[in-house]
Amino acid sequence: MDTSILELAWALSSFAICGEGNVSVRDDDSFWMKASGASLTKLGKSEMIACKMTGVPFDSLGLKPSIETGFHAWILREFEDINFVAHTHPTKTMQVLCSEQIYSFADHRLFPDQVVRNGAKSCVVPYAMPGKPLLEQIKKYVTIFVEEYQYFPKLILLENHGIITASSSHKECIASTMMCEKSAEIFIGSKVLGQTNFLTSEQVDEIDKCPSEKHRRKMYQ
Ligand SMILES: [Zn+2]
Repeated sequence: MDTSILELAWALSSFAICGEGNVSVRDDDSFWMKASGASLTKLGKSEMIACKMTGVPFDSLGLKPSIETGFHAWILREFEDINFVAHTHPTKTMQVLCSEQIYSFADHRLFPDQVVRNGAKSCVVPYAMPGKPLLEQIKKYVTIFVEEYQYFPKLILLENHGIITASSSHKECIASTMMCEKSAEIFIGSKVLGQTNFLTSEQVDEIDKCPSEKHRRKMYQ
């Protein structure tokens, strides 16, 4: 198992309490998944479970994989460039996800680094019960996003639930999660102060396509 998955869990532990949140990592034609109920804080090797790409564990006798294993398996199966998947419930982001502002937050950008780490737009998944209903909802809305924009979303917003970041690198998952939470704080703060000044779509495009910003993204991988 690539132990950078543990670094990923520890880095994101402030965005989940108790057994909330989960992480997974590809391992050739299988993957490792956080056990159900295990905490991201101090997550250890023994709390990771080897699963087949179908999401079924190799050994069903010991710990159970998380209820959200299904969407980790689907993302790792469908998108070969992705090696790490992280799912968390960051508090400030949750304030936005539990409000009518969720689509405004997904479709607009406030500052350059948000574009660099979270992409020009985020993918919104309407609420569904965790488990199979959420898996089906993620499949549907991520597929629509990928068909429209031709890339996997850097940030997936689950309405009334949390977020998913997935990447070839664990560092990019960390950066994208942290940037989402920072952006949510700025988004909420700007609403409190009055009219929010979003970047225009031309300004977002300019940053998204800028070679030096692409280089910056790569440097962090
Ligand atoms: Zn969750």
